[in-house]
Amino acid sequence: MNYDVIIIGAGPGGIFSAYELMLKKPELKVGVFETGFPLEKRKCPIDGDKVKSCIKCPTCAIMNGFGGAGAFSDGKYNITNDFGGTLYQYIGKDKALELMKYVDEINMSHGGEGTKMFSTAGSEFKKLCLQNKLKLLDASVRHLGTDINYIVLGNLYNEMKDKIDFHFHTPVKDIEVLEDGRFRIHYGENETAECDKCVVSVGRSGSKWMEEVCKKLNIDTLSNRVDIGVRVELPAAIFSHLTDELYESKIVYRTHKYEDAVRTFCMNPNGIVVNENTNGIVTVNGHSFEDQSKKTENTNFALLVAKHFSEPFKESNAYGESIARLSNMLGGGVIVQRFGDLEKGRRSNKKRIQEGTVRPTLDATPGDLSLVLPKRILDGIMEMIYALDKIAPGTANDDTLLYGVEVKFYNMEVKLDENLETQYKGLYIIGDGSGVTHSLSHASASGVYVARQILK
Ligand SMILES: Cc1cc2nc3c(=O)[nH]c(=O)nc-3n(C[C@H](O)[C@H](O)[C@H](O)COP(=O)(O)OP(=O)(O)OC[C@H]3O[C@@H](n4cnc5c(N)ncnc54)[C@H](O)[C@@H]3O)c2cc1C
Repeated sequence: MNYDVIIIGAGPGGIFSAYELMLKKPELKVGVFETGFPLEKRKCPIDGDKVKSCIKCPTCAIMNGFGGAGAFSDGKYNITNDFGGTLYQYIGKDKALELMKYVDEINMSHGGEGTKMFSTAGSEFKKLCLQNKLKLLDASVRHLGTDINYIVLGNLYNEMKDKIDFHFHTPVKDIEVLEDGRFRIHYGENETAECDKCVVSVGRSGSKWMEEVCKKLNIDTLSNRVDIGVRVELPAAIFSHLTDELYESKIVYRTHKYEDAVRTFCMNPNGIVVNENTNGIVTVNGHSFEDQSKKTENTNFALLVAKHFSEPFKESNAYGESIARLSNMLGGGVIVQRFGDLEKGRRSNKKRIQEGTVRPTLDATPGDLSLVLPKRILDGIMEMIYALDKIAPGTANDDTLLYGVEVKFYNMEVKLDENLETQYKGLYIIGDGSGVTHSLSHASASGVYVARQILK
């Protein structure tokens, strides 16, 4: 088991690293080690019938396997430096954009052709937002949709599978730096593989493991941010003027009371709300399909409050986890509440939700989010809902549904140089696992970038 390059993790970061290496230097021996299963074997047991909510499988089919956390995502590739990660801080803004466009070209040539690219450039909504104390961030958004995203991933895998060694269901346990500067990875029952270069792309689900590896190898890390909030679900018509033109609008609001930044995140027109299981904690997320027959009457998006902690507190993810755990404790999973009930200070119950005009797309437990979310965060979310109501009247309707909690765990930021390389030459850390990226486009671009650094 000797490789030129070992890639740990087959999410977008790992896939695009492997693909670029295969394309530019096919003679390289590349091995990809992945905790989860091949794409076609990834199956979440939730069927809405026998299994209605997360049963906490040992390997989560949503988060792990070929395609990573992005496999069943909405496939929104945001081509921008304004959000989705800080890759540009390492490689420069022009390079980051160029690589995101390159990734888009690859996606287009593997089944994505014909999907729509949306853009905020020249949008009238910028002015409307500013007039209401909201800021619309600049971006071009390629929306593949969950179905086309799946096809693209399948096509990429078919092209790579005979040229690259994929080891599925093989979580890597440890990385060892050898005296000659090479690397040895440990997996299975005392099995090992060695390589000249090692690319670690373990995403959010691998964040705990990443932390341990960094501790053991004395790689510096920083962890001070977590975003906490809710997923909003409302009739698609309320946001259709924005979603028809922009598909996804990233809007930021600074709260009056605490001057915290609240932002919209991951907007899914006519989409569905879903459970997400990160290390056994059930949180909420959302996606939508390109296929007309799978579209719903609702739009969903997250409202997240960014929480930056200062010294000496370093456990930002543990803080987010505790809040998510609280919602799991009260609701047995995700809690749903009508905005009107939240305002009136009462919990939602099944009857009030059923009588409401918004039909929930996720079977969550009706409850009271004010028992879960810290006041500062809840105040910020409510302020933002009223601000959004001015540009999309109806957002603050009583029947608007809020699912909680949604947590964006930021992986600790790993200390890397401009090559995304650690202090060990040849050990690269990319994608969401590095803390540098938080999105499909940035994670994929980081994969291409590192492959090119290796090829140099
Ligand atoms: C439901 C959902 C919807 C989303 N929608 C969007 C969207 O529309 N647009 C967007 O930009 N982003 C979206 N995201 C985020 C996006 O999926 C991630 O930013 C992106 O997948 C990060 O890519 P990555 O390669 O860094 O990590 P991941 O995609 O997380 O991949 C990491 C892989 O590493 C594997 N792994 C972890 N530890 C080990 C180990 N020790 N050994 C071997 N393998 C390991 C995991 O199994 C996983 O497959 C969404 C996420 C979710 C969960």
